[in-house]
Amino acid sequence: MPPTLFDTHCHLDAAEFAACRDSVVNAALAAGVGDMLVPAVSTASWPATLAMRSRYGCRVTLGLHPVYLAQHRPEHLEQLADALDRERPDAVGEIGLDFYLPELDPAAQEALLLAQLKLARARQLPVVLHLRRAQDRVLKYLRQVSPPGGIAHAFNGSRQQADTLIALGFKLGFGGAMSYSGSQRIRQLAATLPLSALVLETDAPDIRPAWCPPEQPNQPDNLPRFARILAELRGESVEDILTATSANARQALGLDGQAPRLRAA
Ligand code: ZN
Repeated sequence: MPPTLFDTHCHLDAAEFAACRDSVVNAALAAGVGDMLVPAVSTASWPATLAMRSRYGCRVTLGLHPVYLAQHRPEHLEQLADALDRERPDAVGEIGLDFYLPELDPAAQEALLLAQLKLARARQLPVVLHLRRAQDRVLKYLRQVSPPGGIAHAFNGSRQQADTLIALGFKLGFGGAMSYSGSQRIRQLAATLPLSALVLETDAPDIRPAWCPPEQPNQPDNLPRFARILAELRGESVEDILTATSANARQALGLDGQAPRLRAA
């Protein structure tokens, strides 16, 4: 049986897929994607995220995304604690810091991250991290709180920051950015980091790969092509890449021994 791909970051609940979600999932299954993690972004999005689990068997996270800071309210942290206990998602996410967008207040983002890391640690849940231009700051909070690892999504930091995340129990997510020859740092990291630390992700409908036309959303059936790029960059076989990245994803999310679960509606 061929190894089953794991898309560790797919916003399947996004509005871009409203009219075509069933066919997007069917295409992903046909391409060999057997598991998909759908990260949440705000309390308003949680029902849609959870619906992806009940309809398609997706793995899910619940959390408050830093980019949606303007939507978050203090009581949403209490609601998150309740939802984590009631809905039992696979991880807390996506959470983190975004210092690229100037309108997002850093102090408010950091308070939100710290509180959510504590919720994750108290429940021994992994976390799915969004870290844009803020790697060292996120590392500071990870060292302080020590959640039980997880996935650093769309990693684009230094080798030293990568090594620190790996030492803290994290896998690093790589996807469409590898398809651009100008993404030298990301391609270099993908080529040289230990394979045991890497997971594949599409971030669909975002981070469109080089071959995806601008009017078309990125889709999870692009994942096998990302696996082939990673294999080429590393000089390893595609099969080894598929086997290792899927096993790494399962390990990061505490899913060892569970069968792939993505299914058609
Ligand atoms: Zn995301």
